[in-house]
Amino acid sequence: MSKTLSGKVALVTGGSRGIGAAIAKALAEAGADVAISYAASENRAKAVVDALRPKGVRAQAFKADQANTDEVNGLVQAVVRDFGRLDILVNNAGVFAGGSVTERANNLDEFDRLVAVNIGGVATAVRAAAPVLHEGGRIISIGSVAGEVSPWPGLADYSATKGVVAAYTRGWARDLGTRGITVNNVAPGPIETDMAPSDGEMRDALIAGTALGRYGKPEEVAVLVIFSRAPRPVTSRARRSPWTADSVPSQAFNCSA
Ligand code: NDP
Repeated sequence: MSKTLSGKVALVTGGSRGIGAAIAKALAEAGADVAISYAASENRAKAVVDALRPKGVRAQAFKADQANTDEVNGLVQAVVRDFGRLDILVNNAGVFAGGSVTERANNLDEFDRLVAVNIGGVATAVRAAAPVLHEGGRIISIGSVAGEVSPWPGLADYSATKGVVAAYTRGWARDLGTRGITVNNVAPGPIETDMAPSDGEMRDALIAGTALGRYGKPEEVAVLVIFSRAPRPVTSRARRSPWTADSVPSQAFNCSA
């Protein structure tokens, strides 16, 4: 991969594993210095950093709970302090919880956690990053096709959080576009990670909905993040990746950016 991001500094929230770790690796391979955050997986975060540094870039892990406004603000400040600048913010950290509205009525703690991490953490990070991003800056959030469609019962709360991120993306793109900063939302279908293990109970239903008949890989999402970082001013646009069918049911389990 050509080092198109040499001299740039990227922050990937939730970079200790899964999609975030793959994005961190792709950014480092493109030459960017990379900061990652994590909530609990200190050893896994260190392992990611150890794998990035041999690529010739600076890399560092920071513990910061996306549900804690002070910690997210502190994370962005620490990255700017330690790396000297911030060019790319990837809002990747997220949590999943399922259950119908009747079940959820008795589990408000889980609902609050979904909202705090998937919405609050993203909004706080963008508020903290927007003043320090320069012209050419990029904000890329990992949403979900579940932000656009609801193929089963029990997804409403998670879908709502990802729908909010999509709406925020359109608004932030307007707010920041005149400063030359683009804002995009990558919306994957099922990707094989701890959050969506390929031996999980939803395996058959998830695969049946995909155009390719398989789970996506974290690296395939990372490709879209790198594309969204492209120098040309693509912002707040929905584009279907080449491996995505056009019909809504097929889109539902594939990937868009
Ligand atoms: P994983 O569960 O594999 O990884 C989640 C990452 O987020 C970890 O690095 C985790 O850190 C971090 N994280 C979780 N909660 C917090 C928190 N409160 N504060 C800081 N970091 C946190 O998830 P995926 O890689 O699958 O998902 C990444 C993103 O992609 C999420 O936003 C998810 O909603 C989205 N997505 C995933 C899909 C899938 O099928 N997998 C499909 C569509 C979207 P730690 O290791 O310390 O816990």
